Amino acid sequence: MTGALPLKPSFNIPATVSSFIQGRFIQAEAAHQIAVVNPATELPISLLHEADAAEVDRAVNSARASFESGVWSRLSTDKRQVCLLRVRDLILHHADELAYLECCNTGIPLSQLRRLHIPGAANHFQFYAELANQLKGELHQHRSSYQLLVSREPVGVAALISPWNGPVNMSCAKLAAALAFGNSCVLKPSEYTPLAFTRLMDIFCEAGLPDGVVNMVNGRGPVTGSALVEHPQVDLVSFTGGSSSGPLVNASAARGLKRTTMELGGKSASIVLESADLEVALDGALAGNFMTNGQQCLAGSRILVQRSVAREFREKFVARARAIRIGDPLDPKTELGPLAYQAHMQKVLSYVDIARTDGATLLAGGQRAAHMARGWYVEPTVVQAPSNLARICQEEVFGPFATLLEFDTLSDALEIANQSQFGLVAYLWSNDMAAVMHATRELRAGTVWVNTTLVGDPRAPFGGVKQSGTGREGGVGSVEFYTELKSVVIPNGAAPIPRLGVH
Ligand code: NAD
Repeated sequence: MTGALPLKPSFNIPATVSSFIQGRFIQAEAAHQIAVVNPATELPISLLHEADAAEVDRAVNSARASFESGVWSRLSTDKRQVCLLRVRDLILHHADELAYLECCNTGIPLSQLRRLHIPGAANHFQFYAELANQLKGELHQHRSSYQLLVSREPVGVAALISPWNGPVNMSCAKLAAALAFGNSCVLKPSEYTPLAFTRLMDIFCEAGLPDGVVNMVNGRGPVTGSALVEHPQVDLVSFTGGSSSGPLVNASAARGLKRTTMELGGKSASIVLESADLEVALDGALAGNFMTNGQQCLAGSRILVQRSVAREFREKFVARARAIRIGDPLDPKTELGPLAYQAHMQKVLSYVDIARTDGATLLAGGQRAAHMARGWYVEPTVVQAPSNLARICQEEVFGPFATLLEFDTLSDALEIANQSQFGLVAYLWSNDMAAVMHATRELRAGTVWVNTTLVGDPRAPFGGVKQSGTGREGGVGSVEFYTELKSVVIPNGAAPIPRLGVH
């Protein structure tokens, strides 16, 4: 590990990506192959072998067998902790390589991956290793004739399905929690971004995780993903993805009575009150819209600004958005890289016309970055919306695309903020304590960030309301999701059991 950010690191990109089952990458025999493309060059850099239902079956059976054997599920939490802390150390040790691989297939600036995503991934293993090792049960002695013990046990086989906009970090949050509480797993990363997982699977082996405890399958959602969700030996499904695929996955899991968390899309409001420190609000709103190339579920992409400060905010926001450095994601100076794939870039650009048709004013950007010869780069785009009912205020764009709106009073702002099918996060910028306390209660969102942005804290239960999802992961949310409660009742003496048949 160097900690430095070389412009062209020299790590090998795996030529192929295949499933990882029972501790090894399997010989690929896939009928369907998918090119893994570097969004900065538009060139294929690897080949993904898609897992079909039979391969998914092998992966789930491997997880099931490891779970039933007790090799991990019944291991003492002390020993699990040692192993997971080794995973953390190895992720940090290989951070440069993981960040490089992730950069090559996501286009997220290497500096952001190296500084935030990869250390974040490592931290999940530390946090959950420690949390699981301090988990307590309950002893109830309220009745004189019985003792009641309540304990938490692993659920079983966890299907972990993740998106392409922060692949390693988001997958590690799921993996770390599932593993810490003793589950076995089958991970299905996004078919667009599998590269860093090849290295991550090696890390699990090197850390000493027993074979079969972590497995991975790759492929498209409706093929590999749905085979995984439908598999009868899967006990729970942790899904992070879009608000259109989420309900399908949820319905499929429900048919098998599997518990789920659905972490879905958003169109989060970022409310700037006149009582805010405007420079702080500007920093936060820019980071909340343009970090990770604007591809953030938690983007504060509806920026509601109080009319008295709206002009100043708009001018400064637009000037800084225009000044964001677009470039090669491997370049340490780059602030905004390419979008993840071509069709996604086209979708993002289509919102420029949608916004115009709805009467919005284009203030910045709105097209591909002209100075980049190749790659799916889109300029930081800012529009002023005519009203919150415009499509640009109601639909998730998932790119470097900010929408500004104005309001007069706090109650107007709260009404606009809540006038949405989504409710993932909300941002509030204000130094007026009474306004803050009132607004945090009224905002319909899973998380409210006050005068800050993008604070990923593994202690914080994270998830959305409305179309942004159901369930929570993080902190107590993960304890509840990845464990099953068991009640054990033991009589203190002779049990007072009704004696049927004795007359
Ligand atoms: P997506 O829903 O297309 O895919 C997400 C994952 O689900 C991928 O691995 C995909 O292969 C799989 N998948 C898709 N359809 C499936 C199906 N029918 N059965 C099983 N698996 C299926 O989403 P995406 O385009 O990869 O990610 C972007 C979306 O994810 C955005 O809407 C974003 O807001 C959301 N997201 C939410 C969070 C959150 O925590 N709430 C975090 C990141 C991204």
